[in-house]
Amino acid sequence: MLAEMRMITITMGRALVPDRGRDSVDVVTSSRKPAPTLSLSPATAAAVAHVLAPLELRLTAHRRAVLAALEISDRPLTTDEVVHRSGVPVSTVYRNLAELVEAGVVVRVAGAGGGDRHELAEPFSQHHHHHLVCVQCGIVTDFDPSAQLERLIDKEVGALLQSTGFEVSNHVFDVRGRCYDCVSAG
Ligand SMILES: [Zn+2]
Ligand SMILES: [Zn+2]
Repeated sequence: MLAEMRMITITMGRALVPDRGRDSVDVVTSSRKPAPTLSLSPATAAAVAHVLAPLELRLTAHRRAVLAALEISDRPLTTDEVVHRSGVPVSTVYRNLAELVEAGVVVRVAGAGGGDRHELAEPFSQHHHHHLVCVQCGIVTDFDPSAQLERLIDKEVGALLQSTGFEVSNHVFDVRGRCYDCVSAG
């Protein structure tokens, strides 16, 4: 009987193994951790490398994997989630996130208690958006307000320059409440 090589794809921290019966799944265990297969988009990698170079920080495989986990996600991630999805050791994730926040590549997102959450800074994600914050479980999800609301916010805050001399650089607009899961659980 021929032995068959099978690829196991790690996606978002989960191993996707074709369902072909319990006894045929014979995974050879290894002391080595699987290499992260998340990949950072070339455009983001180039933009990040440009910012890190003057700081004498390299875009290492670990930093790439951490950034890829944030880039692929549709919501800000806790440190534990970044560890789980990137396959990068926890102490390295803590250090890398702190360095990337310092460099302005990653931003800490205000949640509602619990651990810090992180996302790619808007100049790197190229996705201006706002957050829904669940005050019960702490999850933060992204949402895109209508173009009409964005124009209204820009107009209102732009007027502040006239009335107060406050020069606006960007805006952050969070909505707090309870997420669907928390509401459903009662
Ligand atoms: Zn919730
Ligand atoms: Zn906005």
